[in-house]
Amino acid sequence: MTKDDPQYLEFRELCGQRKLAATVQRFIVYQTLAGMKNHPTADMIYEQLHPENQKVSRMSVYRILDTFSRCRMIRRLNHPGAATHYDAFMTPHHHLICVNCGSVLDVDQSEGEHIDISACQIPPGYQILDTTVDIQGICPDCGAEIQDFLKPGRDN
Ligand SMILES: [Zn+2]
Ligand SMILES: [Zn+2]
Repeated sequence: MTKDDPQYLEFRELCGQRKLAATVQRFIVYQTLAGMKNHPTADMIYEQLHPENQKVSRMSVYRILDTFSRCRMIRRLNHPGAATHYDAFMTPHHHLICVNCGSVLDVDQSEGEHIDISACQIPPGYQILDTTVDIQGICPDCGAEIQDFLKPGRDN
């Protein structure tokens, strides 16, 4: 990586807007996450780091991801019963989650359309930053298995 790498310049810009130091370690973690489209966990990101970047410790990966999430540079996805997943894709989109295998798929939202949260009873004093819908279902891979399980007449 060189300091005039366009991806680094873009990263430095993102950090600058958040008064965050654009360190090499942070850049490596950000780039790795941005290159993964499967909403990885911190451990998956750590394992994905190229051997030459192994100087970024597992602890640093966790800490950096936490910093990015708090600065809203990335999204943190918390789903019950699953490890925390991360997403560097910040344009409005939702997640389709398989409740059986935990896979997470991006669902795009039509441009200019917003999820209507007017029916939600949001207590006064809150400033809404983002709205993401978690759509829970069963993915096609798990479908056959589950369908079998849900069949009536099973004595379980
Ligand atoms: Zn599944
Ligand atoms: Zn996503």
